[in-house]
Amino acid sequence: MAIRLRPFAIGAGLVLSLLLIGGGYPRLGYALFLAVLTGFCLSTSLSLNAQIGIGALLAVLFGVIPGSGVEIVHVAGRVFIAMLKMLIAPMILLSISTGIAQMGEARALGRMGVRVVALYLLTMSFAVATGLVLVNLVRPGAESTLRETPFFSEAVGTQATNLAGDLSLGEFLLQTVFQVLENPLVSLTEGRILPIVLFAILLGLALIQIGPRGQNLVELLLAGYAVVMKIIHWFIRLAPVGIFALIGHLVATIGFQELAEHLLEFSLVVIGGTLFQALVILPLLAWVLAGVGPVELLRGIREALVVAFSTSSSVATLPVTTRCVEDNLDVPPSVSSFVLPLGATVNMDGTALYEAIAALFVANIYGIDLGISGQLVIFLVAIVTAIGAPGIPSAGMVTMIVVLESVGLPGEAVGILLTIDRFLDTFRTMANVEGDTVVAVCTARSIGPSARATP
Ligand code: ASP
Repeated sequence: MAIRLRPFAIGAGLVLSLLLIGGGYPRLGYALFLAVLTGFCLSTSLSLNAQIGIGALLAVLFGVIPGSGVEIVHVAGRVFIAMLKMLIAPMILLSISTGIAQMGEARALGRMGVRVVALYLLTMSFAVATGLVLVNLVRPGAESTLRETPFFSEAVGTQATNLAGDLSLGEFLLQTVFQVLENPLVSLTEGRILPIVLFAILLGLALIQIGPRGQNLVELLLAGYAVVMKIIHWFIRLAPVGIFALIGHLVATIGFQELAEHLLEFSLVVIGGTLFQALVILPLLAWVLAGVGPVELLRGIREALVVAFSTSSSVATLPVTTRCVEDNLDVPPSVSSFVLPLGATVNMDGTALYEAIAALFVANIYGIDLGISGQLVIFLVAIVTAIGAPGIPSAGMVTMIVVLESVGLPGEAVGILLTIDRFLDTFRTMANVEGDTVVAVCTARSIGPSARATP
C-alpha cells in the first residue's frame, strides 16, 4: 500500500504545486515543488545522474517560461552550496592527513614512497599546466555579455576590490607564507584551505614518525573521514534539488541561450584538455619513464577507463584498476597495493585540470583578468584541492568552491558549473584513474625486476 501511495502523493503534490504557481501563489507553489522533488529523489530507484538530468531539465523549462517566477527558488540553491561548503574544511583535513598517515608503509618500502609522491605531483602539474595553457588560448566565456546581468554584476563589484592591486611575485609568495602559517584551529573554523593543507600534511607526517603511539589517532581520523564521506553522500543525494534551484534562478535571470553557448565552449575546452592529458601527456610519461608504449598502456587499462567513465569514481574503479595493471601491465602487487589506493584519493589529474579551467572560465564570464599571480594561485590551489578531493562522484563539485574563492571569485558561481558537472566528471575520473596507472607502471619499472619479486 505504502508503495502505491508514494507515487500518488508525488503526483498530487506536483499538480498542486503547479496550480499554486500558476494561480499566483509562487512562494507556496515552489516550496511545495521543492518538497515534492526532494521526496522523489529520496524514493526513486533512478540513478543520481538521471535525477540530476531531470532536475536540470525542469529548471531550464521553468526558467525559459516568461514570468514563471522560478528565480525565487534561489534560496534553496544557496542552502545547497552552503551544505557543500560546510564539509570542505574537515574533508580536506581528514583526506590528506589519513592519506599520508597510511603511507607509513612507504617508509618500509624505502625510496618508493618519495618517488610515488613526486610522480603524483608531476602528473598533476602537467595536467594543470595543460588546462591553463588551453584556457588562455581559447578563452571560453571571454566574449560573454552575461556580466551585465544582475546575477553577475553584484559579484563583480566585490571581486574588483578583492583583486585590486595585483601583487608582484615576491610579495605574493611572502604573503602566501604568512597565510599558510596560521593557527590550524583558526583556519579550520574560518575555512581557510592552504593552512589546513599544511597542517594536514604535518599531522600525517608526524603520525608516521611516532609509529604505533599514533595508532589510536589514525583510527580516529579514519573514522572521522568515513563519517564526512557519509554526510557528503547524503548531501549529494539532494544535488538534483540544489541544481534545480541554482539553474532555475540562473536561466530565469540571465537567459538560456548565451549560457548554453558558453557552457558548450567550456565543456569542449575541458574535454580537449582531458584528452590531451589522457592521450598525449600520460602515455608519453609512461613511455619515457617506463618504456610502456601508448597502445600497450591504453589497451591494458581500457576496462578500468570504461568503469571510471561509468561510475565517476576512482575509488569504485579501484578493483578493476588493480586487476588491469597487475594482469596486463606487469605491475607487481607490492607496488599496486600501495600506489593505487593512495592514488585514488590523492592523485587526480583530471580533477586538477578541470578545476583550473573552470576557475578561469568563471573569471572570463565575470570579465576579470586574474593576472599571473592569480593564475599561480589557481595552479597551486587546483593541485592542492584535487589532492584533498576524495575519489567519489562529484567531489570536484565541492572543492571547486575553494578554487573559486581562493582568487576572490564568488563560490556561488559554482552554480554555473553544476549544470554540466556530472557529465564532465565522467571524463575527469577517467584521467584520474589513468594517472594512477601511469604512476604505478613507472614505479614498478623504476624499482627493477629483483625488487619487484620481493613484496
Ligand atoms: N569523480 C572524481 C573521481 O572519483 C573526483 C571528482 O569529482 O573530480 O576521481
